[in-house]
Amino acid sequence: MAAITVTAAGKVIEVPTGLFIHNEFVPALKKTTFNTENPSTGEVLGSVSAATEEDVHKAVASATIGFKTWKSTSGPARAKLLLKLADLVERDAEQFAALEAVDAGVLFGDSLGMNVPQAVANLRYYAGWADKIDGKTLAMDGGVAYTHREPLGVCGAIVPWNAPLMITIWKLAPALAVGNSLIIKPSELSPLYALKLAALIKEAGFPAGVVNVLPGDGAAGRALSENMEIRKISFTGSSATGRQILKAAASTNLKRVNLELGGKGPSIVFDDCDLDNALLWTRIGITAHNGQICAAGSRIYVQRNIYEKFLAAYTAMAEASPAVVGDPMDPKTNKGPIVSSAQHKKILGYIEQGKQCGARLLFGGEKIGEKGYFVQNTAFADVAEDAAIMKEEIFGPVASIAPFDTEDEVVSKANDTLHGLSAAVFTNDISRAHRVTTALESGQVTVNAWAMLSPNAPFGGVKESGYGRDMGEDALEGWTSVKAIKYAILPPKL
Ligand code: NAD
Repeated sequence: MAAITVTAAGKVIEVPTGLFIHNEFVPALKKTTFNTENPSTGEVLGSVSAATEEDVHKAVASATIGFKTWKSTSGPARAKLLLKLADLVERDAEQFAALEAVDAGVLFGDSLGMNVPQAVANLRYYAGWADKIDGKTLAMDGGVAYTHREPLGVCGAIVPWNAPLMITIWKLAPALAVGNSLIIKPSELSPLYALKLAALIKEAGFPAGVVNVLPGDGAAGRALSENMEIRKISFTGSSATGRQILKAAASTNLKRVNLELGGKGPSIVFDDCDLDNALLWTRIGITAHNGQICAAGSRIYVQRNIYEKFLAAYTAMAEASPAVVGDPMDPKTNKGPIVSSAQHKKILGYIEQGKQCGARLLFGGEKIGEKGYFVQNTAFADVAEDAAIMKEEIFGPVASIAPFDTEDEVVSKANDTLHGLSAAVFTNDISRAHRVTTALESGQVTVNAWAMLSPNAPFGGVKESGYGRDMGEDALEGWTSVKAIKYAILPPKL
């Protein structure tokens, strides 16, 4: 089977380019392919097989066989393979980081320091659960019942490009730990990490069909969502696509759907906080990975009596440490490219709207260079509540800042959004922290930092940010169904 050779910072990485079906790399049945490009340069890295509906059927047939084997594999044996996969991903951490850098524009150092270790940690965390999926014993009138949690069957994971390995493992690890088989559809913008992962699935020794990987575009995702045999789709991506998947499930087999959608995260800075700490995290919250993070802290509310001081320090901080823009493989680079030309245009469009809507441009506001898709870190102050840049997810390095006076006012502003994925609160008043974290409509809230992640802490949204959880014990519920087995206790025969 063909392969793409990626050479990045002296590393030569071979990635198979076929679909991964039943532990083999194969061309798409209709020989369809698509190109994947390096967003730093706009150059094509190579051509990858593109799954169509026929390939989805083939993968589902494989996954059905895989499920039969896997669900009857013991918990400890499943754990052993997940641990083996964790070791292999860790062994090849630099290769994954390089692939995320050249294919998705993730900084090599960010991937190596965060995305890959998080993926490994999640594999190990869920390996620990594989032999602990227990039920309850229930007393009943006239009998007794017990419950056990069963895998759902063949499931699908449709994932985005922004932190692709980590988000894929958020789904793969719990799905497999409890005995499901999984078909992964990576984003057409970043397929290479998934093909590398597929090679490690085989190397780890998973039975054929337990994991299939189908690169392809939205049509492949649609075919998965409409498939009558698939029992669940776990999706991370945009709200628009999430709705399509939900509709497809509703009009076919009512498969379960978990949705991890976009966000417009508020970061709330109270006057009693550690200001240096708040400045640091509100900056990281919108500049990390160019703001291409669903949990990005893109709305920054600052209490009025420290508002101008905050803005001056926020601007000074940006000026004192200008972004080092360039190749995400270069360790000196701290600002990589936007993932695609379309996303680049969208961000620049929002920046233009910011300039037109009467907000105060603190810094940034321009694209960088002509090659690749780069854009300056940008901050607007005095942004009106109804401005598009305050309301809509930009998925770029654009902060919208506004003042507030009271706790009630800021909670009401923070909640006045269709989203509810992630929020941050900066205060040294523990009672205030408790009141505000409780009042925020958000799947997660971080106090005095931004978007902390841990494999044992659930991640997901409320409102139009979706439902269902990745990570933590809570995610296991989404990958199982509970069966109640009831025994009538008969009286002794006389
Ligand atoms: P996207 O919705 O365009 O694509 C996500 C995936 O869905 C891709 O694999 C794509 O091929 C597939 N897809 C597209 N159309 C489909 C269809 N009709 N049916 C089924 N699948 C289809 O999103 P994106 O541009 O890759 O990612 C950016 C979005 O993802 C942002 O809105 C961001 O907030 C969100 N996101 C959310 C989280 C989270 O955990 N909540 C994490 C990362 C990104």
